[in-house]
Amino acid sequence: MPWIHDVLNSAPGDIPGQTLPWHLGVFDAHCHPTDTPSCQGKIPQMKARALIIMATRGEDQDRVAQFAESCGVTQISIPRLMKPDSHCQIIPSLGWHPWFSHQICDDSILGSEGTITQSNKLIHYRSIISPPPEDHEFVRSLPDPRPLSRLLDQIRGYLRQHPYALVGEIGLDRSFRLPENWLPNNHTERHPDMTPGGREGRRLSPFKVRIEHQKKILKAQLNLAGEMQRAVSVHGVAAHGVLFETIRDTWKGFEREVLSRKARKQRESAIKAHAGDEEDEGRVLQSGPSTSLLYPPRICLHSYSGPPDTLRQYFQPSVPAEIFCSFSVLVNLKPSTAAKTIEVIKAVPDDKILVESDLHCAGEHMDELLERMVKCVCTAKGWSLEKGVKQLASNWLRFTFRRKSEELHKIL
Ligand SMILES: [Zn+2]
Repeated sequence: MPWIHDVLNSAPGDIPGQTLPWHLGVFDAHCHPTDTPSCQGKIPQMKARALIIMATRGEDQDRVAQFAESCGVTQISIPRLMKPDSHCQIIPSLGWHPWFSHQICDDSILGSEGTITQSNKLIHYRSIISPPPEDHEFVRSLPDPRPLSRLLDQIRGYLRQHPYALVGEIGLDRSFRLPENWLPNNHTERHPDMTPGGREGRRLSPFKVRIEHQKKILKAQLNLAGEMQRAVSVHGVAAHGVLFETIRDTWKGFEREVLSRKARKQRESAIKAHAGDEEDEGRVLQSGPSTSLLYPPRICLHSYSGPPDTLRQYFQPSVPAEIFCSFSVLVNLKPSTAAKTIEVIKAVPDDKILVESDLHCAGEHMDELLERMVKCVCTAKGWSLEKGVKQLASNWLRFTFRRKSEELHKIL
């Protein structure tokens, strides 16, 4: 990606000559180092304090879990997140990206023995791909789909093994088209270092995955995150309205009451009198039935590229989940997107902004991208670098662990 270097050198928001106070803790909210497993060894030496690393497809779920085995945050290592000069750690995030949602099928299409046959594979792909592919060769080359229930069981298993893990990368994408098949002579173009399953420069076919199918896969994973009370990292491209509606459906009946100022004061003093903790406070303000929650407690809109209007819907006081927006140089500071991004950053509440690299390889370049993005946020918000780095660290800790950073400081 040669244009990355142009972006690094020319995008607005740079503060030349000012050194980023890395010692205060810089955190990546979304990246993909498992795409290049050979870079794993670079993670401990990175300047960033911690990375949230995303799974996307069948081939990388276990790699994300393996990365977590070797350098994942543990109960013992959490205190190091607040200490300068400590090694960079990771938080795993498990889930299926919308670009791979076609590989997941509804359990109802399974044969009587719970298996996938050639004919129900064809039925599945023809019903969820648009336009329905006449080219049976193309469909036959696609992998056998995995039943949704088994996929959710697998993610649930990983989440149980990794108590700090998130759910992601999940979401909706209306512009993505399925890559064409690998041809025998393409194999020489494949990068031996890359985890299989990605696009790797393949041409795109005319086929898209129907949005209804993507919604079903997204909703199931949002519900799982609610069940397990884990935060999620969400991808949304050319689908900002339908993405909001899909997420909103998961908290129907759990909206927070929007109280008048007087009623709110009365409510707050009642809560104080009962010395309720933060979690109780949330529950008291919820008007819905007291069944298990089906929406994630915290949601990060990663590399947010939507309009400010959609953003306002997420920050309505009735929304019971805590919403964060993260920004990356690679998506948000392209020459075509940078000006809009600055305006969106200004519109996001100070305590809800995160930064990310969204990069496929750990190491120095990931640090560079984070530095550029932090400086851009500080410029847009009018923050000093010290104030900005502290605020972004506090936001990341809140998003990842729910606790406010002041509370974390007390614990550590
Ligand atoms: Zn991503």
